[in-house]
Amino acid sequence: MDEFVKNHQKIVFETTLNALEKNGFKGILVSSKEEAAEKIMEIAKDCSSVGIAGTHTVRALGVLPKLEQAGKVMSDHWKFKPGTPEELECRKNQGRVDLFLVSSNAVTMNGEIVNRDGCGNRVNAMTFGPRKVVIVIGKNKITPDLESALARIEEVAAPIRAMSLNRKTPCVKTGYCMDCDSPERICRITSIIHKRPVMTDITVIIIPEDLGY
Ligand code: SF4
Repeated sequence: MDEFVKNHQKIVFETTLNALEKNGFKGILVSSKEEAAEKIMEIAKDCSSVGIAGTHTVRALGVLPKLEQAGKVMSDHWKFKPGTPEELECRKNQGRVDLFLVSSNAVTMNGEIVNRDGCGNRVNAMTFGPRKVVIVIGKNKITPDLESALARIEEVAAPIRAMSLNRKTPCVKTGYCMDCDSPERICRITSIIHKRPVMTDITVIIIPEDLGY
């Protein structure tokens, strides 16, 4: 890697980790997806139940089969047909697990965690319920501040998510948010975690590659 790119990344990671710590979160920089999976297994040692948000990033680590093999009771709503009572129950369970695994739409260099949801099970479980929350992000999720975090959601994360869900929303054609009134709108709740929620232990794991959207 070019030394200037390397230097820039070092500054971005150090600033973000320091800001997260200042806001009461734990911040960890790992070198690979494999190391991120090892950290999660360590954090999960004293947890018997694990919830997984609708995240490609966490699934890409290959950690879910390891947690299952370790005997954890898993709440993964992607295992159920959308809209079924079983899927709804699983989403509710995610708010009661010992450990909730999730990614984030954006994490700012000021140490804020920013997300926009359609259902709300993800942002609810990130802030209250689970004893521990681990947020795994690639470097592409780090933004300088709140304004750029919201811009990232509107210009990248939400339009791509809408495409992946085959929604008939304007952003799937324009590539950026049109603040639509579509019944298929996926953007219904915005959550900004400014400081660590009082009853939740939150760890942010940063992987120095682009992961998810
Ligand atoms: S509000 Fe509508 S147009 Fe904007 S990103 Fe969400 S679904 Fe797309």
